[in-house]
Amino acid sequence: MMKSGTEVFPGDEVAVEEEYLASDGTFSNDGVVYASQIGILDLDDDECVARVSSPNPPNVLRPGDIVYAVVADIRNTMATADVVAKKGTARGIGGETYATLHVSKISPGYTDDVSKELRKGDIIRARVTGISPSLQLTTKDDDLGVIKSLCGTCKTPLIRKKNGLYCTECERSFTRKLADDYGDVRL
Ligand SMILES: [Zn+2]
Repeated sequence: MMKSGTEVFPGDEVAVEEEYLASDGTFSNDGVVYASQIGILDLDDDECVARVSSPNPPNVLRPGDIVYAVVADIRNTMATADVVAKKGTARGIGGETYATLHVSKISPGYTDDVSKELRKGDIIRARVTGISPSLQLTTKDDDLGVIKSLCGTCKTPLIRKKNGLYCTECERSFTRKLADDYGDVRL
């Protein structure tokens, strides 16, 4: 017999139905209870059920989640980004991390040029607006947008200047949709 606290894999026999019924993370067949997922076995003697709980369930993103992402590509009407983390948790992202930002969802004002708002390599804070058929993000709100950016020419971290960014090495200014705490963020 297995004991509570054992790490189990899908298909492992974890109990018999005479003693424990199948519950979360388990299923029964012919009187035997099996694990249906990887996790830690819990044989609950009070309720007489066998559960398998995953200690690190994958972070599946939902609309409304705030995420951090790296801008991957700039196109005519959208940007693409790789979601690297969800705000408030150190756990990795489960499932899709490839996301798109439509030009109309980047800045609160009208913009027809994505490259004035975001650049490849920028780290952004964004909100998930849709998950199907693919992840969609917005950076329209004040607290959303670019939080860290390096100069495309010399890789110096850009500093905030008025509503844009400035490279102290190249002495050049750049436009961006900035989060209101650009430059203050510790990742
Ligand atoms: Zn520079």
